[in-house]
Amino acid sequence: MSQGIASQAPGIGTAGGSAKFGRILAWVFWAWILATLGLGGIAAMLVFTPLPPLPDVSEEHYELLQKIPYATRFDFPVGWPDAKGYYDARSFGKKGHMGSDWNGVNGGNTDLGGPVYAAADGLVIFSGYAGPGWGDCVIVAHRLPGQFRDRQVESFYGHVQDCFVEAGDKVKRGQKIGTIGTAYGRYFAHLHFEIRRRPWMGICRGYNGKTEWWYDPTRFILDMRKQGPLAKQ
Ligand SMILES: [Zn+2]
Repeated sequence: MSQGIASQAPGIGTAGGSAKFGRILAWVFWAWILATLGLGGIAAMLVFTPLPPLPDVSEEHYELLQKIPYATRFDFPVGWPDAKGYYDARSFGKKGHMGSDWNGVNGGNTDLGGPVYAAADGLVIFSGYAGPGWGDCVIVAHRLPGQFRDRQVESFYGHVQDCFVEAGDKVKRGQKIGTIGTAYGRYFAHLHFEIRRRPWMGICRGYNGKTEWWYDPTRFILDMRKQGPLAKQ
């Protein structure tokens, strides 16, 4: 009997050792799981939450959103597709500027009447007179595919001389939607171009300094082109 207990003792000792080893293994396992989840979580956050949440879309706007074509690629609105022959005379954020002011490289009014192109496939939601500071403007709504699925952004074209589209028209990327103007002689001809991440803001001030709901349009176009699924046609 006693011999039996004695003979069991080393066995118990061994069992205790393997239990300890098991606990260490369990800790390593759970640490690995948590680290993986943590890293995965961070990666998922980077991939899936590039934008702060948008406000709720009203039912009417939600219905309209279903009709807005997906924008698979964005191009520059002048000198299509890469703004050839134009330069950004007043870039986004400068003195509270909400867009880019595209001017012809030859200055003055040399770009007056130059073509303005839709930056991407979309639905025209405004076209017409927007007050003395703007002259005529066009707003195009775009629906984003891929990781930004069903987010709506809008491109805004200010100081347009002639508008070739009306609200409700579907447009294709690179389609001529108007010409560069002066807001009825108020400025040297240029295109004030914005990309808005908050939809349905309508006519806003061109300088308001609250950049939260706007994108740097040039960065937006270039970033969107880098997204693999977006670049595929
Ligand atoms: Zn401007």
